[in-house]
Amino acid sequence: MIDSYGRNIDYLRISITDRCNLRCRYCMPEAGVEPLAHTDILRLEEVLSLCESFTALGICKFKITGGEPLVRWNAVPFIKQLKAMPGVEQVTITTNGLELAQALPELQQCGLDGINLSLDTLDAATYRQLTRRDGLAKTLQALEMAIASGIPLKINCVPIKDVNDHELPRIAELAREQVRAVRFIELMPIGLAAQFQGIPADQIRAQLAAAFGPLKEDHTKMGNGPAHYYAIEGWRGKIGFIDALSHCFCQQCNRLRLTADGTLKLCLAHDNGVDLKTPLREGASQAELQ
Ligand code: SAM
Ligand code: SF4
Repeated sequence: MIDSYGRNIDYLRISITDRCNLRCRYCMPEAGVEPLAHTDILRLEEVLSLCESFTALGICKFKITGGEPLVRWNAVPFIKQLKAMPGVEQVTITTNGLELAQALPELQQCGLDGINLSLDTLDAATYRQLTRRDGLAKTLQALEMAIASGIPLKINCVPIKDVNDHELPRIAELAREQVRAVRFIELMPIGLAAQFQGIPADQIRAQLAAAFGPLKEDHTKMGNGPAHYYAIEGWRGKIGFIDALSHCFCQQCNRLRLTADGTLKLCLAHDNGVDLKTPLREGASQAELQ
């Protein structure tokens, strides 16, 4: 699918649940999100059926996300089925890691193409304060196991002023030997995040350069997203930046989003979307859905 701006749209992020086992203060309220009614959430077979339409339209790369994707019952069999679907070239997940350890053997076996593990802090107290849960040890255990699994692994970290800003070099250092990339995501000041202050990518680059030496721009293709990467001499992994605020990347955006209730969204900055659940449940054919 080439859109009217000439962008090749081949990437879909699928949220398979709106629920989560953490309550990161910039993302979820303490009480969690108002749960969608059971009937409002797409069944995973329905998601697979929509994916057949998407692949027919040229979407070949899928990111499974949430909420926390691994809290959805049968998330792993779903990922396996998607991975085996004709036309699907790549399936990756984004996870907070709490349920990852037990899922890893099957994810590895089905050929999962990548894991993005969210890790905003390496300090247990900061983790507890930020996520309102006690989970750092479990996440770090999953990190170790994910490294050992050989599945390409990237760390996502959202730098926040007065929360984890002093830890960024330590987190970045995971890319020295262990992971393919550590990516710093600029905090988008939407919803609950508006009460926090993110840190511009330029500032983080300067902080890392002071700690580790020059960061050299690296144009190796590392994924499907808008991250841009830097190399540090002697490091195996790269440092990435997803800086939606300080550098607009709309012109490179190649993604669609499917929400857990079956709405197709084109842009995070807009609320509008297309309801796919209703036609799907009313028996629309693949051609009609497309
Ligand atoms: N629960 C999973 C996780 O945390 O990896 C998947 C969903 S979570 C919404 C995906 C990523 O979005 C996480 O890395 C999280 O830190 C990031 N995120 C959430 N709210 C954000 C915001 N306001 N600005 C930037 N990134 C955000
Ligand atoms: Fe859950 Fe991910 Fe949001 Fe944290 S960022 S509350 S782990 S969905």
